[in-house]
Amino acid sequence: MQKLKDMSLTAKFLFSMLLGIIVGLIINYTGINYEGSFVNEYIILGLFTIIADIFITMLKMLVAPLVLFSLLSGVLGIGNVNTLGKVGLKSFALYIMTTALAIATAIGVALIINPGVGAEQTSTAEFTAKEAPALSEVLINIVPSNIFEALTTGNMLQIIFFAIFFGIALLMVGEKAKPIAVGIEVINEVMMNMVNMVMAIGPYAVFAILTKAVAMLGFSMLIELSGYVFTLVLALSIHLLVTQMVLFKLFTNLNPILFLKKLRAVQVFAFSTSSSNATIPVTLQTVTGKVGVDNSVASFTVPFGATINMDGTAIMQGVATVFIANMYGVELGLTGYLTVIMMSILASIGTAGVPGVGLIMLSMVFVQVGLPVEGIAIILGVDRLLDMLRTVVNVSGDATVSAIVANSEGKLDKTIFNNPNSGVTTGEIHINQNSEDIIADAIHNTQTKK
Ligand code: ASP
Repeated sequence: MQKLKDMSLTAKFLFSMLLGIIVGLIINYTGINYEGSFVNEYIILGLFTIIADIFITMLKMLVAPLVLFSLLSGVLGIGNVNTLGKVGLKSFALYIMTTALAIATAIGVALIINPGVGAEQTSTAEFTAKEAPALSEVLINIVPSNIFEALTTGNMLQIIFFAIFFGIALLMVGEKAKPIAVGIEVINEVMMNMVNMVMAIGPYAVFAILTKAVAMLGFSMLIELSGYVFTLVLALSIHLLVTQMVLFKLFTNLNPILFLKKLRAVQVFAFSTSSSNATIPVTLQTVTGKVGVDNSVASFTVPFGATINMDGTAIMQGVATVFIANMYGVELGLTGYLTVIMMSILASIGTAGVPGVGLIMLSMVFVQVGLPVEGIAIILGVDRLLDMLRTVVNVSGDATVSAIVANSEGKLDKTIFNNPNSGVTTGEIHINQNSEDIIADAIHNTQTKK
């Protein structure tokens, strides 16, 4: 028991994830979670759902204010509009480039393996397509007409826009704005403490989420669609382990294996929640605390990446396009594939990193290249699991670009990176020793002011 307590939080997450998968598999195979059973009603849909939902909701609760305040403190930290522009441009270019590489890899791998050739399409499930937003609409939508609406709906690009705008205006006020700048720093620290507290219950939640997800997965589908699943997993692995790590090594000259190790907690969260957005608090904490990226860069690149960078999702779109085209015997040709690449990039910019959004983006791609949208219904059954996997690749891409941009700006602390134990916590919550005095002082001050 003591050993379990002393484990680092990341080790606890990994342990809970594996345990969750094992317990989930046992429940799935024994079928003890049949409808109306005790296990199904009270454990899976009862206790586990409560823990999982409360945890994910808490993470989501933190995302908008965390992004707002960490980005504001980031802008104040950079303190220079030119540098801000450079960070923005570099990360945008890298995000687009990695997404393009991802989808090209996917199409390449899929064309070699050619999943779906000769298979018959048997699904009767239905799927309705969504219209792709026009580029002009995507651009206009970056500007919020109401910042409170952006915050309540968690519209990341709009929050980013407002925070940068506000931050620059604050910088322009100068000396007079200092108390607010200090206040923002403090709130940012408070937000980080809230993340720490939520993370402390993370291992239990990860166990509940995974047991539930795995127990409810339809594994027979996995075998039926094994060609598609295998191609996708292969392309995802190549992108994560080769492309992203080579880029990381090339641009930062740091050890990619150590980098991958440091990303473990982020990956476990992405896998469990299937949401880049909900993982933002963990990604931010990891890239600043363990990788050594300065908050001024991370606070921008991480939420920006969670919205516009989806390497894993792009890979799914590439593989799914080839797979469905093969199944329906459609010849896409070079123009078709180039359209797929363009569409996937555009679709990923306009859509947020939330569970299942990849399929909606896929329907936009299909409409554009003239593939039957009903085809998506075929892969629907296995998408829950694949969503988990591709979200891991999405968030790893965000962290990789963050580190590369920070390094190029001289904002990557290599001593933090090279220390394997930096940022490692056991998930215990520490209250500041002086907090009682601070609170007493504050009360005293307000009373004397009266
Ligand atoms: N779940 C993915 C993410 O949040 C998006 C998707 O592919 O559905 O990054």
